[in-house]
Amino acid sequence: MACGLAAGTVPLPGGTVLRTAHWTVEHCVGPLGVGTLLVKPLRHVTGVDGLSPDEAAEMGPLLTRVSAAVRACAEGVDGCEQVYVCLWSHAGREPGHLHFVVQPARTSDIDRHGGAYGPALQAAMFRAGEQPDPAAVEAFCRRARALLRD
Ligand SMILES: [Zn+2]
Repeated sequence: MACGLAAGTVPLPGGTVLRTAHWTVEHCVGPLGVGTLLVKPLRHVTGVDGLSPDEAAEMGPLLTRVSAAVRACAEGVDGCEQVYVCLWSHAGREPGHLHFVVQPARTSDIDRHGGAYGPALQAAMFRAGEQPDPAAVEAFCRRARALLRD
């Protein structure tokens, strides 16, 4: 799935937000809300320990930039209390294509899920299974793309 999205063989709402020499940034297709971006290596790598020195060198600065863009785009009426950056890449107990999840922790989401935050918020959002509105995803990605270009 992660490979197909990066290769453009699976429809991707919002399109590619940013592509660097070794990484790509796109919107999450799961139920983690509008503005949750995925940061993935272009190469099929299933562990941080498998990254090449060049891939690793881009990782820190890129996660910093993407987190700043998520915070800037998510702040507003809904409130962005924190920007989560996490990496699981472990579906069905199988290591999968690395993808950092960069998620705005919105007050509205936390309140809607009974005050859950951190991993509990993500678990609650997966249980609820609400897909983000495609038009809102497109709009968010346009803003994030413009911010990351500067
Ligand atoms: Zn892959």
